[in-house]
Amino acid sequence: MHEFRYEGTKLYCEGVPVETLVRKYGTPLYVYSEETIRAAYSRLDKAWEGLPHAICYAVKANSNLAVLRALADLGAGFDIVSGGELQRVMAAGGDPARCIFAGVGKSEEEIRAALKAGIYCFNVESEAELERIDAVGRKLRKKAPVALRVNPDVDARTHAKITTGTYETKFGIPFEKIRRLYAKAAGMKGVKLRGLQMHIGSQLTSVEPFEAAVAKVAPLAAELAEVHGIEFFSIGGGIGIVYRPALASGDPKWWFSPEGRRMITAEAHAEALRPHLEPLGLKIILEPGRFIVGNAGILVTRVEYVKQVGNKTFLIVDAAMNDLIRPAFYDAYHEIVPVEKKARRTVVANVVGPVCETGDCFCRDRMLPRVGEGGFLAILSAGAYGSVMSSNYNTRPLPAEVMVRGKRHALVRERQPVEAIWALEKPASWQESATKRAKRK
Ligand SMILES: *Cc1c(COP(=O)(O)O)cnc(C)c1O
Repeated sequence: MHEFRYEGTKLYCEGVPVETLVRKYGTPLYVYSEETIRAAYSRLDKAWEGLPHAICYAVKANSNLAVLRALADLGAGFDIVSGGELQRVMAAGGDPARCIFAGVGKSEEEIRAALKAGIYCFNVESEAELERIDAVGRKLRKKAPVALRVNPDVDARTHAKITTGTYETKFGIPFEKIRRLYAKAAGMKGVKLRGLQMHIGSQLTSVEPFEAAVAKVAPLAAELAEVHGIEFFSIGGGIGIVYRPALASGDPKWWFSPEGRRMITAEAHAEALRPHLEPLGLKIILEPGRFIVGNAGILVTRVEYVKQVGNKTFLIVDAAMNDLIRPAFYDAYHEIVPVEKKARRTVVANVVGPVCETGDCFCRDRMLPRVGEGGFLAILSAGAYGSVMSSNYNTRPLPAEVMVRGKRHALVRERQPVEAIWALEKPASWQESATKRAKRK
């Protein structure tokens, strides 16, 4: 469900025509709907009503301060994967005591900072990391709260680049080794055992892999609660969203995958897992990223040229793979719609960006409404893993970002000035500086 829809011929975000935003802020432009974020959070929260739970938003999906603030105001916790993300959460007014720290490569520096900030828990991904956290804890004379991340070896049946719950990946600790490591951790002076964690992958479109993993791990959680007194079981994130057709995804009849399978929903996810989790008496933690922000953002772009090559039509737009890498990186599908629906005529086209890569392509041979030079297109469902993965490739400044609430809109990230891209660079000490060189000439 989201707040992007047509009123007459114009695409709106909540109460604001998207065209108003591009006229004011330019393109490429990320537009976020605060109400969509709030609604997704509340919907998930409600699905778990009656069972003690916490929602720790996965910051890596979209870490804009305004997004984090909106979630902090709703009472969310945060799932962070770096020291930088912890600082961001704190800068946005989030509570470190509601942060869980995941990731396979936490540095000593990051561990120290997080322990000093008083985070809720470290989700530990290896024995070596456990030892390092223990050492930092002893040095600071604190007991670092930890949960071990169990790898249940269950295939999430999603894209290979976002599968994390099998032994083919770098994530977590093999199921068979977990008990021994809990016993070891229980004897450490620098840590205290607080929970158990797992996360099997991202963009899961059905509940079955979740159910298989939870069914496998729940008895272990029960045992660890009894033996080590852990207080929570985090079942990770990964709930998929509807990308196709995104505009219609407010309507339940569209909750089917292109192959006709029933799409996952927050309610179906909770319903399937509750019977396994309720008897545990543990606090359940959810770590959704994409589910909260995926459909809450769009990337708006301007058509620069319409290029005909043989019988192919290329719409060359001013956004590129450096702004939104998902199609190039994950073969992801994003629905593309016009900001103003004028023409009834359609065109079969490739929408491509200006970057010098063949992979810089948002869609191939897609039937689209005819849009000419200067027209605006909206790439939908770009709220998660969009802006956060953007780069300066081809010395392209990072796009501006706008948040909408009702009829109000605010710039929540300024368009990056082009000079900022090389502001930290300089010629080597033995090279002549640009100013000196200019003077000499
Ligand atoms: C990325 C990640 C998430 C969030 O995944 P989504 O698919 O965006 O919900 C949650 N937990 C961990 C440990 C992650 O690495």
